[in-house]
Amino acid sequence: MKKAKKAKKARGPVKKIAHRSKSAINGDIYSRLKTQSKEARSGSMFFKVPEGEKSKLRPFSFMHAGVEQLFINIRRHFNLGGDVSTCTCPGEENCPICALKDEVSERLWQGSRGQGGLKPSNKYLVNAVLRGAEDKQVIWELPKTVFASIGETVEANESTTAFDHKKGIDWVVSRATEKGFTRYKVNPITQPRPIGMEVKPVDLIAFQPAPLSDSELSDIAVQIASKNT
Ligand SMILES: [Zn+2]
Repeated sequence: MKKAKKAKKARGPVKKIAHRSKSAINGDIYSRLKTQSKEARSGSMFFKVPEGEKSKLRPFSFMHAGVEQLFINIRRHFNLGGDVSTCTCPGEENCPICALKDEVSERLWQGSRGQGGLKPSNKYLVNAVLRGAEDKQVIWELPKTVFASIGETVEANESTTAFDHKKGIDWVVSRATEKGFTRYKVNPITQPRPIGMEVKPVDLIAFQPAPLSDSELSDIAVQIASKNT
């Protein structure tokens, strides 16, 4: 037995993987990995303030090509209804989901009270620390209204350190649905608690959330069309 093992090792770094029957693989991790990879690339891991809750966040800047930057602006689809419920829009002309605009009902495209539509929405992405018993670094996805509110407050206070991860400001952001519409409230905390972690700002311009492939986007569009025609 020992000799056999040694002989295998000598063959090099490529290991032969034992063949197992599918039933031996708990829950088929391979198909789950595929779904999880698609989920990660779809951007569903970006942090969003949960519905009906309050989150405390500290947005901070990153450097790109020697220039300090705070955010990137992207367009995202939501409410896709499949194993991936959200994705970044590659631009109207190249997007199979945007191509559904004239195929699906106005209601499905625009959304109706309490139910968002398929049409892409503008979102901002910023680096942030999610404050809690344990701080956590996240990429925060926020709507234009919240981003504008933060910007206006910082500008009005003429702050030059608001987006510094050490000296910066925490914001309490709450999200609630009122009469079918999502409402956000944004308030700065004037005396923020120091953060207890090292942050590594993600260069969001270089990072540009890897979008789903053309074929993955087409599959989503086909699924939506087949359910709604
Ligand atoms: Zn699109």
